[in-house]
Amino acid sequence: MKYISTRGQTAPKSFSEVLLMGLAPDGGLMLPERYPQVDAATLQRWRGLSYAELAFEIMNLFIDDIPAADLRRLVGNTYTEAVFGTREITPVRTLSDGIKIQALSNGPTLAFKDMAMQFLGHAFEYVLAREGKCLNIIGATSGDTGSAAEYALRGKAGIHVFMLSPHGKMSAFQRAQMYSLADANIHNIAIEGMFDDCQDIVKALQNDAAFKQQYSIGTVNSINWGRIVAQVVYYFAGYFRATASNSEEVSFCVPSGNFGNICAGHIAKQMGLPIRRLMVATNENDVLDEFFRTGRYRPRSAAKTYVTSSPSMDISKASNFERFVFDLLGRDSVQVASLWQQVASGEGFDLSAELPRIRDTFGFVSGSSRHADRLATIRAVHASDGEWLDPHTADGVKVARELREAGETVVCLETALAAKFAETISEAAGHEVHPPRPVALAGLENLPQHVTVLPNSAAAVKSLIEQVLA
Ligand SMILES: *Cc1c(COP(=O)(O)O)cnc(C)c1O
Repeated sequence: MKYISTRGQTAPKSFSEVLLMGLAPDGGLMLPERYPQVDAATLQRWRGLSYAELAFEIMNLFIDDIPAADLRRLVGNTYTEAVFGTREITPVRTLSDGIKIQALSNGPTLAFKDMAMQFLGHAFEYVLAREGKCLNIIGATSGDTGSAAEYALRGKAGIHVFMLSPHGKMSAFQRAQMYSLADANIHNIAIEGMFDDCQDIVKALQNDAAFKQQYSIGTVNSINWGRIVAQVVYYFAGYFRATASNSEEVSFCVPSGNFGNICAGHIAKQMGLPIRRLMVATNENDVLDEFFRTGRYRPRSAAKTYVTSSPSMDISKASNFERFVFDLLGRDSVQVASLWQQVASGEGFDLSAELPRIRDTFGFVSGSSRHADRLATIRAVHASDGEWLDPHTADGVKVARELREAGETVVCLETALAAKFAETISEAAGHEVHPPRPVALAGLENLPQHVTVLPNSAAAVKSLIEQVLA
């Protein structure tokens, strides 16, 4: 299986090459040259598999340069009850109104990014060892991505992680989660500035070709193909849990920001999984909802991105969206390149002529949710089911309730646990609430923290990295 770029100007690559890549050199995103097709007999056989066995079967269709026995061991070491809390890994439950919730949020950082990032940690270590290489990851985080990357890469041979976060801007829980890690290869750097400043420093270092080359600098952002392929697995797992037989169809509702999560759902559907509809749920940052309702894609600037109470969806340029548009346009890379030129110039584009195919062929629909909706949904689900939903998942449930048709089975993806967002839960409840936390995380805030505070300066970060790697 070879991988190609959505912009068509990159020579085909193997899985292991794509695994360590960010953007393709032509500015596009990498995708398999075709989607493996899953027939009825295979689907029937897969229904009985454990999560790790299923993950092996699915990923093995996309990966031909890691021997099957090694891949089986990598996924076996990734998807364990010890790491994900349950034997099912992504258990599915049903709310009293019939909406199903698939928990992707039981990993070490209590957010769905662990599902893919944990695999990436094992896969990176394996490929780097095989090729005698090392990798130094630099990233910027305002919360979820950075902690998921650190928990996935902690203690991994051949890898250092330098994670920049805005000094004093994260919640006490998020700080404790990242800064309490004591592994020698994890380096937390708090920048005296905002999240955007952290991101600018990462970009500046990425653009420093000599530095990048000398220190093997890489990233683990949401466009990484290794993350997408690992996410395809839980759509199959969720489908099997939510149905009694493969003659049934299921719709998935996905709290979305960078379009990475639901992009994996799109791929699962293209492979032949009986998905009826893919429901995109956004918050107040509703560029994707606008596209799926009108066909117009109008990404917004950082200045026009709202800070909301579902912060991991505060995104106005969905970095994985190009993968879907490539498929929508029959994989016409010339047209994709020209559309993204329009995006770069600030114009955006209009694909309203494609709306019937977007809905009928690809199954996409959408909705959005605002602060008041989120709080009302959190309150209502607590009243009816006695559980606190995380704010992102609440956005999904709100949209699923609106879009669901009679007889339609809808699985909402639970992308985080309420425990991470006690303030918003308390606001919804109208009094202080401490949502339940996994036992392993009791007293997290009391652990010693490891972080270096630096001024808002790329040079300061660069010299710290040079010292560490000297
Ligand atoms: C990252 C994240 C999302 C958004 O996922 P995308 O892949 O960016 O669409 C939603 N909810 C939570 C809790 C997240 O961490």
